[in-house]
Amino acid sequence: MTYKSMPKVELHTHIEGCAPPAFIRSLAKEKSIDISGIFNADGTYAYRDFNHFLEVYEAACTTLQGPQDFYRLTKAVLEESASHGVVYQETFVSPDFCGGGDVSAWREYLAAIEDAATEAERDLGITLKCVATCVRHFGGEKAQAAAKCAAETKGDFVTGFGMGGAETFGRPADYAYAYDMAREAGLSLTCHAGEWGGPEMIAETLRDLKVTRIGHGVDAIKDPALMQQIVETDVTLEVCPGSNVFLKATGGWADHPIQKLRDAGVKVTVSTDDPPFFSTTMTDEFNMLAQTFGWTEDDFNEVNQTALAAAFCDADTRATVAKRLEQA
Ligand SMILES: [Zn+2]
Repeated sequence: MTYKSMPKVELHTHIEGCAPPAFIRSLAKEKSIDISGIFNADGTYAYRDFNHFLEVYEAACTTLQGPQDFYRLTKAVLEESASHGVVYQETFVSPDFCGGGDVSAWREYLAAIEDAATEAERDLGITLKCVATCVRHFGGEKAQAAAKCAAETKGDFVTGFGMGGAETFGRPADYAYAYDMAREAGLSLTCHAGEWGGPEMIAETLRDLKVTRIGHGVDAIKDPALMQQIVETDVTLEVCPGSNVFLKATGGWADHPIQKLRDAGVKVTVSTDDPPFFSTTMTDEFNMLAQTFGWTEDDFNEVNQTALAAAFCDADTRATVAKRLEQA
């Protein structure tokens, strides 16, 4: 079995961040939107650093103007994921980018995304679940509107609530109300923390937002007591090594803390985050982990099982995905 065909469970992706550049360019052309400035000469996304990446990301998102565009986007994303062996994927979808925080508009976007997901499950054997996500640097009020959208649509497809965006903007407590709303609606919770904000941000996020998963969380390596807390409270980290290396959130591959976190007993999973933005795929992640840390099929199986156990899905879906992992 190659690392490409090996089945994979991926918990941390952003739907627009998975958009193939060629797909975004063709949408821009169709709609006569000039976003040529966000591409390099070779057609890849161009940016200088993390904050500029967020600007380029938002510019790319301007081409996605309605539910039908998100239907097409989701199809393109899931085809790409399935081609790398992904059998279960969760994706962050932002009510801010899908309907401007309005619940009825959000429902229309979701219906289109779910249609594409249903077709992909039928045709490609990949299951998609949606983690509705607020954007941190849009502030607490917008986060509450996003949480309301998430709460109103909680169900078989929208299973979680999360927060992305600029991690150093505000403090977790500023978003506690939004997270409380999502929790009360029965949504599972995750939040980006400890990619840029240090171990303190992870600790505050766990305390104030009461999440069961942390997006990235790699800064936990800097605080042994926090690592111990993460182990004891059964929190799972959505680690995105290729993203961290590309954006220099950590050192290079050899210095990436994923192995040390795992050695300390922390539950780690592997995801691509925004693959075309970071020149990665799940196959690349597996290849680099094998090359750098000597991970074998057994290690990847363990990571898949950890991800499946932490997935925001019901028991039936978990059983279906477990079969896909076994049959491979
Ligand atoms: Zn992310």
